[in-house]
Amino acid sequence: MIYLDNAATTPMLTEAWQKMQPWSSGNLIGNPSSLHSAGRAARNAVREARVSVANLIGARSVDEVIFTSGGTESDNLALRGLAPYLKKSGRNGIAVSAIEHHAILNQCSLLSDLGMGIYIIPVDSDGLVDIDGLKRTLEKSSVGLVSVMLANNETGVVQINMDAIAEICHKNGALLHTDAVQAVGHMDIDVKELGVDMLSLSGHKFGGPDGIGALYVQSKVMEQMSPIILGGGQERGNRAGMENVAAIVGLGAASKIVQSYELPKYSLGLRQLFIECLRGYDVDFIVNSDNVHHLSNILSLTFLNVGAEALLRLMDADGVCMSAASACSAGSLSPSHVLTAMGRSPEYARSTIRVSFGAYTTKMEVEEAATMLAKNVLRLRSMYG
Ligand code: PLP
Repeated sequence: MIYLDNAATTPMLTEAWQKMQPWSSGNLIGNPSSLHSAGRAARNAVREARVSVANLIGARSVDEVIFTSGGTESDNLALRGLAPYLKKSGRNGIAVSAIEHHAILNQCSLLSDLGMGIYIIPVDSDGLVDIDGLKRTLEKSSVGLVSVMLANNETGVVQINMDAIAEICHKNGALLHTDAVQAVGHMDIDVKELGVDMLSLSGHKFGGPDGIGALYVQSKVMEQMSPIILGGGQERGNRAGMENVAAIVGLGAASKIVQSYELPKYSLGLRQLFIECLRGYDVDFIVNSDNVHHLSNILSLTFLNVGAEALLRLMDADGVCMSAASACSAGSLSPSHVLTAMGRSPEYARSTIRVSFGAYTTKMEVEEAATMLAKNVLRLRSMYG
């Protein structure tokens, strides 16, 4: 099998797996809330991981990191955890970009039902947030929180102007959250430079384990957060329930490794190789990003007049895993909301696939997969063209 769906989930980095292994096998055991030596060891392991995550994103303090069950929970917590404060402060509007992940969009639907004002900010044809649209929304409404993703999971497009977005938000009295689930580990991130108040990340997107993530919350904003999972006082009262120590250790190890790793450079090489291989065949295709503002590991390709579903089935039969829009919305027949928000037609969206590379993808796999992709596109075009 050739696995080119690393944006859906990517294998754990071996060293991260080795680090968490004693905790998942039970060789090391302990509840971080316990006072005895085993509890202390677990507490120290969690603290060490928190330091690594904080370093990875440039947080000022380890106390700004809340461990969660993954990107979805981090996104949910960012919006719903701040909602009571927003309501109280009279700024109960939330503005989000049109291309957000459903972890944000579906949370907005719930908050809308609960009486909050939800505003959708359009993007341009390159997938970049319409800055004037954002300004207009913030000036005419009482928005207290904006959420704009750092990198899109379907196209890989990076919001290059996040610092400008942050400035506009802050000038208009709104806080800024970014869903950086696809970006963390794949580009340099510093929350201070980005100017964001909250940031979501997820372990299984950059070589950590599944089911673990974190929400960065700037210290002052942390004081306004309400937990969405209630119980004990874990995570300084922000997220109850015993910490998943093994997964946290794995996340911390992955966070440390990727800081000294040339992963973005490596995956960019694979992405370029894939495009070059494809160009060697007589298939025309469109790359859904410009040459610069994209993640190094995600390649969104459109083959006009070729149904993505049929194409992916043929690729799967050939042993190559790729995906249509994001894995989370796969199975739904509606075209990608991301591409349609970028002004593409439903037919265009239905002819688009995502190829994504990881630390363990080899050049040979890339060449083989590109060859098979070209063959299958030509096959489908000859059948239906
Ligand atoms: N946000 C983005 C941009 C994603 O791509 C994903 C997963 O694909 C999520 C959030 C959800 O993350 P998780 O799978 O860790 O819940």
